[in-house]
Amino acid sequence: MAKSIAIIGGGPGGEAAAKRAAARGARVTLVEKNRLGGVCLNWGCIPSKALLEAGRLVHAVSAAGAYTAGATDFRVRWADVQKKKDDLVSTLRASLAQNYQRLGVRVVEGAATFVDPSTLAVRTPAGTERISFDAAVVATGSAPFFPPPFDGLSGTFLDSDRALSLERLPASIAVVGGGAVGCEFACLFRALGVAVTIVEKTEALLPGEDPAVVRVLQAAFASRGIDVRVGTTVRSAQRSGAGWSLALADGGTVSVEELLVCVGRKPSVQGLGLDAAGVRVENDRPVVDAFLKTSHPSVYAVGDVNGLSLLAHAAAAQGEIAVDHVFGESRPYRNERVPRCLYTWPEVASVGEWTHTAQARGLETKAQRFFFKGSPKALAANEGDGFLQVVSEKGSGTILGAQIVGPHATEIIHVFAMALAVEATVSQMRDVIYAHPTLSEGIREALAR
Ligand code: FAD
Repeated sequence: MAKSIAIIGGGPGGEAAAKRAAARGARVTLVEKNRLGGVCLNWGCIPSKALLEAGRLVHAVSAAGAYTAGATDFRVRWADVQKKKDDLVSTLRASLAQNYQRLGVRVVEGAATFVDPSTLAVRTPAGTERISFDAAVVATGSAPFFPPPFDGLSGTFLDSDRALSLERLPASIAVVGGGAVGCEFACLFRALGVAVTIVEKTEALLPGEDPAVVRVLQAAFASRGIDVRVGTTVRSAQRSGAGWSLALADGGTVSVEELLVCVGRKPSVQGLGLDAAGVRVENDRPVVDAFLKTSHPSVYAVGDVNGLSLLAHAAAAQGEIAVDHVFGESRPYRNERVPRCLYTWPEVASVGEWTHTAQARGLETKAQRFFFKGSPKALAANEGDGFLQVVSEKGSGTILGAQIVGPHATEIIHVFAMALAVEATVSQMRDVIYAHPTLSEGIREALAR
């Protein structure tokens, strides 16, 4: 008899698990309490990139002012940009639902709770349904988290969900949190004419990223008039008239029309009953092994909820690995092989190790760079800022990681994701024939140094 697999959460983690389980011939039930597609499709990756495309276009057109005639200082019709984004999201969600139907995945609308390690109770609009399973995959994602002073102000400021659906653009906005989500919003709003201030607690944007990479991004932001305040926090936030007055820990102040807080996310485990399933939880996260298995052998946890990575493709990779493990295939999840992409302009992308993380593991490293100002292709596009950097192990030459800031970084990074997957060396990557003129030929240039 076919295995029965219950999946809780219809974001990228749950979707990948459901598709893999269906492909392996399991009887699959996917429970979703809100919208199919999860945060990624409805309030994350897809809507944010749809809006960013509008900003990118405005930026490109104003850059084209150097050799075009006529007005380049134009404004987008925000309502139409919103409509395009909403249409895209609805189309993709409808096609997801059709896919599940085609694959024979049963979708149940409701909130799931574990009754015991082999049964879920789902509160559906029609009443409570019990679902028994041989294996369950928890893919319930994460939700925005608001530390003080924002915890008492919930609902009055923007979170990322609401920022994606603003009915009109404000004149000014403070973005609290200079991580990936904050930087993308800052870049978008600035391109659309909004005065933007970013407040970031650590000493630089994109905490954890290579400082040289971040310097390029911060310089680009500064040149476009984004006010970046790093190494400080918001001590108090008060509504004043039609806007906000922020007092910063360094004594600075910020007055803006809108306030967007994106400082972090917390795992969505409330009401799941993980204790009834015998799942060990630490810091609100289900603890998982390399195969995404929790402390109960038939319950897996994938995606944002386990905190290994807060990225959609990491969630999807984990969903597949978990289901493969249910079917006896032991393929460990490798978090260090997950590419990390930021869709600002310039783009930022990295994969694998940074010099500092590799050296902290006791490895001797070599970092080789290519600056895009040496790339005819980048120069032709007026995008000569930034560089790509390859980190390898001295001696063996094994590629350990790469960081890119510059044009099409989010595409080029996959060359390095592939290199990590096959454990390639510097000499193997250098000997690849790269087309000319391309940005990727910079890889050979970097490695020839
Ligand atoms: P989610 O996508 O959060 O899905 C979880 C689902 O579980 C939800 O639909 C929820 O309703 C459901 N659920 C929760 N509890 C229950 C329950 N008890 N019963 C039934 N259903 C339940 N990542 C990228 O890789 N690239 C990007 O460009 C990117 N951009 C982003 C932009 C923004 C603004 C944000 C906020 C995030 C972005 N992310 C991006 C992160 C990405 O969206 C998440 O990493 C991804 O959605 C996580 O997938 P998941 O399957 O773990 O969970």
